[in-house]
Amino acid sequence: MLATNTTTPTITESAETILSVKELAVAFQSDEGDWLTAVDNVSFDLKKGSVLGLVGESGCGKSVTSYAIMRLLPQPQSKILRGEIWLKTNTSSSEPLVEDQGINLVSYPQKLLHKIRGRRIAMIFQDSMSALNPVHKIGKQIAEVYRLHFPEMSPSEVRKSMLELLHQVQMPDPEQKMDAFPHQLSGGMRQRVMIAMALACQPDILIADEPTTALDVTVQAQILNLIYELKEQTSMSILLITHDFGVIAQMCDEVVVMYAGRVAEQGPVNTIIDQPQHPYTKGLLSSIPSLADQPKTMLPTIEGYVPGLKSMPEGCRFVNRCSEAKERCSTSPPLTQVGDNHNVACHLVTPNQNNSQG
Ligand code: SF4
Repeated sequence: MLATNTTTPTITESAETILSVKELAVAFQSDEGDWLTAVDNVSFDLKKGSVLGLVGESGCGKSVTSYAIMRLLPQPQSKILRGEIWLKTNTSSSEPLVEDQGINLVSYPQKLLHKIRGRRIAMIFQDSMSALNPVHKIGKQIAEVYRLHFPEMSPSEVRKSMLELLHQVQMPDPEQKMDAFPHQLSGGMRQRVMIAMALACQPDILIADEPTTALDVTVQAQILNLIYELKEQTSMSILLITHDFGVIAQMCDEVVVMYAGRVAEQGPVNTIIDQPQHPYTKGLLSSIPSLADQPKTMLPTIEGYVPGLKSMPEGCRFVNRCSEAKERCSTSPPLTQVGDNHNVACHLVTPNQNNSQG
């Protein structure tokens, strides 16, 4: 069994929602000009001060979902087909940046998005080497964030804030690191720089897209602990994207399991880990190594691959890899409520109190 983070505060259903994704659909254009749906009917709520995990294999639509939230989908080869992404009112600021009722990021004007990116929602990426500019020193790159968002700050105020930030992300010898180029830092240090840049505007939401995948195991743990500590200190909400259920267990309050662009299962992390219902979730959980495993025994795997956009099966998209598939799986299973805040898209599950979310 996976160990969940016991220090995680309980996020109840009544906790305030800060970001609400509703029936989001995103499509990419093929070389032939057809629009192919990469994310289909995805809905979830991110609660204030909580960590929500999006988990699934590569190609399941996790990163596309996060890029849609940031309105950073590549143009013109992709577009949001349907759905809404509601960012709630900025309650932490005395000067709200957005309307009182929140805003729908899907229809928010492009020219105003700079008020959202960085200041309300910040993002850190898997590959810090690509995300940082190789020809500029670290200090200059962090200072650029302040110059863009807080032009009224003096150079000495910017330097003081940068040093505080680098201390906050536990960067060793921060004064010296400000004069370093990205290639002179380790992968873990570069990721700390990325986190510092993301925190510069004190965002309400941090989207972390596979933030530790490129790092050594021990450094992964340091960076995850750092992100978790910063969340506790600042009350920001985190959308954590990962293929690793171990990371989900350690960090998250709630989880959305995605498969081939759709939600397979979603709910509180303890429920999903203790009582997974979807065959895909069960497969992901059973393929995690454990110290209790016999040495030199093969881990269970999910046979096959996530289907490509051009070869999505009819009906349930997991049908070609599912050992429990039945004839009726040639039709799409609805997302069905099976417990408190626990939804599953599989024909095998039994609805809770006949409550189906369609
Ligand atoms: Fe498997 Fe059918 Fe459930 Fe899909 S709907 S996960 S194919 S049992």
